[in-house]
Amino acid sequence: MLTVNAYAAPSATEPLVPTTIERRDVGPKDVLIAIRYAGICHSDIHTVRGDWGPITYPQVVGHEIVGEVVEVGPDVVKHAVGDRVGVGCMVDSCRECENCQAGMENYCLAGNTQTYASVDRDGTITQGGYSTHVVVDEDFVLKVPEAIPYEAAAPLLCAGITTYSPLAHWNAGPGKRVAVVGMGGLGHMAVKIAAAMGAEVTVLSRTLDKKDDALRYGATDHFATADPATFAELRNRFDLIVNTVSAPLDLDRYLSLLRLDGTMVNVGAPPEPLALHVFTLFGNRRSFAGSSIGSIAETQEMLDFCAEHGIAPEIELIPAEQINEAYERVLSSEVRYRFVIDSSTL
Ligand SMILES: [Zn+2]
Ligand SMILES: [Zn+2]
Repeated sequence: MLTVNAYAAPSATEPLVPTTIERRDVGPKDVLIAIRYAGICHSDIHTVRGDWGPITYPQVVGHEIVGEVVEVGPDVVKHAVGDRVGVGCMVDSCRECENCQAGMENYCLAGNTQTYASVDRDGTITQGGYSTHVVVDEDFVLKVPEAIPYEAAAPLLCAGITTYSPLAHWNAGPGKRVAVVGMGGLGHMAVKIAAAMGAEVTVLSRTLDKKDDALRYGATDHFATADPATFAELRNRFDLIVNTVSAPLDLDRYLSLLRLDGTMVNVGAPPEPLALHVFTLFGNRRSFAGSSIGSIAETQEMLDFCAEHGIAPEIELIPAEQINEAYERVLSSEVRYRFVIDSSTL
């Protein structure tokens, strides 16, 4: 076992504090990663505060991890000491179910092993990336191309793949009109990726505060959803709407913006059930869908795509002692657009 520095939540209601945790011995197919940077995802906050159900404390979160391989097990073939690598939202899956066999571990029917707050194969609770080191099976470790700035690469492992996967699946590209709802950590990446894919991108955000940013990241339009005229003007307009907002929305208003065979896909997750009129779906044969991160192969494809197109998240680098303050700024939507922890300060 390796004892490493980390930042952990002692309970649902207390701030995160510095601590140490144990990492398992490097197994035959394991990779030991010295973490350099870890992104702060809204899911981290929901998890430690128990918003998505009770968890075991203390808990270390973080599932946007980049770092360097410092040790490999004897059977590791995919990674070598010195490689620049990443770990996202999952660290294992059953590998036997229909979806795993099809290379879609993110939809593992037995439930994949998540990077934190999940029961690992050895029965322990997984601990995430707000720590100096992590041990992960080589099959769930990604190669992070040198072309992506090191500190900006971390948020690609969750925010990047979560938006890339639906954009790729629903064929965002030349001739397609894509709307991105919400301009936060996920939303700003959806804009950059959809624009790089060649789609015409419109941002739908509550106000016009982030319009300049949206246009700089590749959007051609930006509308305020607080203005009712927006919904009249954009009716029947989009092939794809990527909803990154995790608060409830008036779905019928948004669905009415879809043209024939258009799809609204949700990557933000409101905790409460949502209501919509099926008649809104009848019009234009619309679809209402969801998407959950992406497979390991698709995550690698996304990283290579971002390197090729010179895309990286906009980040604010912070020392570990500012994590609690950063949480408050994520909750009040003040971050532009992702906090990344410098792991050397842990
Ligand atoms: Zn996340
Ligand atoms: Zn499976």
